Amino acid sequence: MDFAFDARTEELRDRLLAFMDEHVYPAEAVAEEQRARLASPWDTPAVVEELKAEARAQGLWNLFLPDAGYGAGLTNLQYAPLAEITGRSPHLAPTATNCAAPDTGNMEVLAQFGTEEQKKQWLEPLLAGEIRSAFAMTEPEVASSDATNITTHIERDGDEYVVTGRKWYISGAMNPDCKIFIVMGKTDPDGADIRRQQSMVLVPRDTPGVTVERAMRVFGYEDHSHGGHAEVVFDHARVPVSNLVGEEGGGFAIAQARLGPGRIHHCMRLIGMAERAIELMCRRAVSRTAFGKALAQQGVVQNWIADARVTVEQLRLLVLKTAWLMDTVGNKGAHTEIQAIKIATPRAVVGILDRAIQLHGAGGVSQDFPLAELYASARTLMLADGPDEVHQRSLARRELKKYL
Ligand SMILES: Cc1cc2nc3c(=O)[nH]c(=O)nc-3n(C[C@H](O)[C@H](O)[C@H](O)COP(=O)(O)OP(=O)(O)OC[C@H]3O[C@@H](n4cnc5c(N)ncnc54)[C@H](O)[C@@H]3O)c2cc1C
Repeated sequence: MDFAFDARTEELRDRLLAFMDEHVYPAEAVAEEQRARLASPWDTPAVVEELKAEARAQGLWNLFLPDAGYGAGLTNLQYAPLAEITGRSPHLAPTATNCAAPDTGNMEVLAQFGTEEQKKQWLEPLLAGEIRSAFAMTEPEVASSDATNITTHIERDGDEYVVTGRKWYISGAMNPDCKIFIVMGKTDPDGADIRRQQSMVLVPRDTPGVTVERAMRVFGYEDHSHGGHAEVVFDHARVPVSNLVGEEGGGFAIAQARLGPGRIHHCMRLIGMAERAIELMCRRAVSRTAFGKALAQQGVVQNWIADARVTVEQLRLLVLKTAWLMDTVGNKGAHTEIQAIKIATPRAVVGILDRAIQLHGAGGVSQDFPLAELYASARTLMLADGPDEVHQRSLARRELKKYL
């Protein structure tokens, strides 16, 4: 068993680390300052476009896409340590490298299931970082962790589909650059097979009947840098039948295919957040003194730091093993491990961030350190892309099956 990264990964890691030091970390404060002066906080600060241009020029672009025809052609195992690095600055680096959710999952869907026409119209500008996109599945009125509950209608009327429904927490949709929604709804609500009732259609933002109603908050944050999380209404929005993604009844399967890579990408970035938290903890611990001793000399602080390091090493091994399995036996074969990392990583990283906040005192919950925002972001990943309990239930059932 070889735990070393291969030569291409090492080379990309070096370049990405340099890009983070030279361009991304210095841009964090600049982006905030610029956003405060924008006409709308949902617009993209100029420094983000500058970062994108620089990343693209350096070949640090579309690293997530395994298909070399579209992206960098990296395996999951090669991409994992790179996503971890971008996770250290999760509000800037993924966007700068065109590797940000939900665009990554949406690009994967279009690359895998889109028609040539759909790829030309939507995938190409997404790959070029010219537009953003959103994925609209969750609804306020129903328990949406169970996709069979979705009530949005996608009704065929001649050469068009008519989309009617209300969605919320649609990430990215507040950003005016978000030009396209992949909407999950039911084309056959009474169908016998509850997993074939759903379909996905592409709904351009400017379609009459589409209203982006409001920004949902995350622990009070509006999450501007991610384009917010919007409540969106589709009121008899009409799109041509050619906007269907894949086949009618294929929506559930596409959603499953979309979430495999999406989940591991989240976990990789979470490990990067945890590394940032450990760095901040250590810097703070050696620089503050309380009751005559550096915080770093307190046993409890040393325990927090040691536990955080042990946890991160464990998580990284499991994430890398999962990436390797996805590359070698496919996403289906890696199902148990994908669920395991999705259960293990957010909750462990939330714990690390919680202790990092504690160590920073009031500074920990302030805007002067990234910890509070990182905490809010990490905590949502115990819900988004499937709540922990749903993954636990499914993983436990597979485990129990062996004994039945
Ligand atoms: C910041 C953020 C961004 C998001 N981005 C998007 C997006 O871009 N697009 C999108 O469509 N959605 C998005 N979501 C929504 C997210 O995917 C859903 O919140 C999630 O799937 C859960 O659905 P729900 O909120 O309807 O919770 P519900 O389905 O109502 O579940 C509530 C709780 O019930 C419990 N539960 C549910 N099922 C089980 C079970 N089988 N066993 C035990 N307990 C169970 C869990 O504790 C769960 O948290 C986002 C959410 C957040 C917070």
